Amino acid sequence: MTERSADVVIVGAGPTGLLLAGDLAAAGVRTTILERRTSGSSLSRAFAVHARTLELLDARGLADELVRGAERVDRLRLFGQVEVDLSRLPTRFPFVLITPQYRTEGVLERRARSLGVQIVTGEEVTGVRQTGDEDGEVEVQSRGPGGERHAWRAQFVVGADGVHSAVRTSLGVPFPGTSVLRSVMLADVRLDRPPPDVPTLDATSEGVAFIVPFGDGWYRVIAWDRHHQVPDDHPVGLTELRDVTARVLGTDLGIGESRWLSRFHNDERQVPRYRVGRVLLAGDAAHVHSPAGGQGMNTGLQDAANLGWKLARRIRSGAADRLLDTYHDERHPVGRMVLRLSGSILRMALLHGPGVVTVRNRAAGALTRLAPVNRGVALAVSGLAVRYPAEPGAGPHAGRRAPDFRLSSPDPARLYEALRQGRFVLLTQDARLTLPAEDVSSVRPVGDGPDWMLVRPDGYVAASSTNPDPGESDSALRDALRRWLPDVQPAPAGDRR
Ligand SMILES: Cc1cc2nc3c(=O)[nH]c(=O)nc-3n(C[C@H](O)[C@H](O)[C@H](O)COP(=O)(O)OP(=O)(O)OC[C@H]3O[C@@H](n4cnc5c(N)ncnc54)[C@H](O)[C@@H]3O)c2cc1C
Repeated sequence: MTERSADVVIVGAGPTGLLLAGDLAAAGVRTTILERRTSGSSLSRAFAVHARTLELLDARGLADELVRGAERVDRLRLFGQVEVDLSRLPTRFPFVLITPQYRTEGVLERRARSLGVQIVTGEEVTGVRQTGDEDGEVEVQSRGPGGERHAWRAQFVVGADGVHSAVRTSLGVPFPGTSVLRSVMLADVRLDRPPPDVPTLDATSEGVAFIVPFGDGWYRVIAWDRHHQVPDDHPVGLTELRDVTARVLGTDLGIGESRWLSRFHNDERQVPRYRVGRVLLAGDAAHVHSPAGGQGMNTGLQDAANLGWKLARRIRSGAADRLLDTYHDERHPVGRMVLRLSGSILRMALLHGPGVVTVRNRAAGALTRLAPVNRGVALAVSGLAVRYPAEPGAGPHAGRRAPDFRLSSPDPARLYEALRQGRFVLLTQDARLTLPAEDVSSVRPVGDGPDWMLVRPDGYVAASSTNPDPGESDSALRDALRRWLPDVQPAPAGDRR
């Protein structure tokens, strides 16, 4: 058996593992991904990239490449009468981007490789074992393409190996939840007669149909027949797909050629802990839910963005272990919320019976015509509403996503460009507030704002102050540094009293 080592071994080169690996490598962490597949993924599974995900890709210089050439949709139509307006979202990306998952993975993989991540393909992980002590390490066992056995040693291991995670199973971590829907058909097809308003979701006493355009002539169709369900391995036929969509939508879409047909069942599950000693779980390995709302890949990418800088700090600077624990504290509630959000959309879609569908459509239509409700739904679906728990005294914006402030310098000209350094960013007009440049970039925002705002590398506000008392304001900044950069103990320079 051959033994190899890395600082971090990530299991799975899906979107979650690829983003995380790139972030770790950018921070100087030796990172290896073990991936069972022998070739690149061609699956178009997740097609929706939401605004918050585009912002975090922007903070890595990747968003513009992904947006170029993909379809932007700024209105979501559900149940005939509901229209959710994304066009007024307070972001550079006021839309949902429709693009196949393999494109997103391609962008992330190129970045990871260019930063020096080692991606070992054809390598199936079969077990994970960690030694129990403080300075312990983790051993990962795998099987190579020819059946040969390998062992990998790492300080930390991340299970980003999807819904059937071998890492999770090997550690005996439970994955409680239920199966909610069987025999959901998924297809990428050409349509002779596409519906005029896409994307569109309709649900009737016949079943559910969802149509979304990729913008290149192909359409994603997700369909479920209320009267006919079969096991996942039962092939999907175009006749079956045509029949159920026509019954639900009341019109024949002219479904023609297909490039992908699949049938799956839908579970709602979440692990109780995202961290087990030196092993962390992220993406579908930690949570799975209905595709309604297009949240799966987006949530996994945001797990990765939350975990990357914390794990890098733990390894590179010996930051206190509790920093790493905040990964579970922050992301587990978000995962639970996503399960609730996608579950509610799904359950609304599944309502049936005489009159019930009409009442649902009218009530949902009336509710979402109220501007605050429409905005609330748009913020929730786009991921912009995600907020992490804040420490008392951390200021009015703490825990929220930082808006993309314009800066007084030409380069970087925006906060999300400044975040491309992978460091904390201190926004302040006060030149006397200086912090160690290797940990924090200081920038000056244009216009009014708080006295200072400390933004984490993942684009969330660590702390901010509008306190007119300079002594109290400085002390709040020191508290924030103690919490988020525990291995750095600088006092803000300059006597501001
Ligand atoms: C049929 C289907 C349709 C979907 N549609 C949507 C959608 O419309 N919108 C949406 O947002 N989400 C959708 N999803 C979910 C979305 O695809 C996932 O949320 C997303 O892929 C999660 O990314 P991940 O990186 O966490 O896991 P994955 O993408 O599953 O990646 C895990 C990787 O780990 C590898 N792996 C697994 N086991 C091992 C092992 N033992 N050793 C080594 N490597 C291993 C796999 O080969 C894979 O490359 C869909 C999922 C499915 C199955």
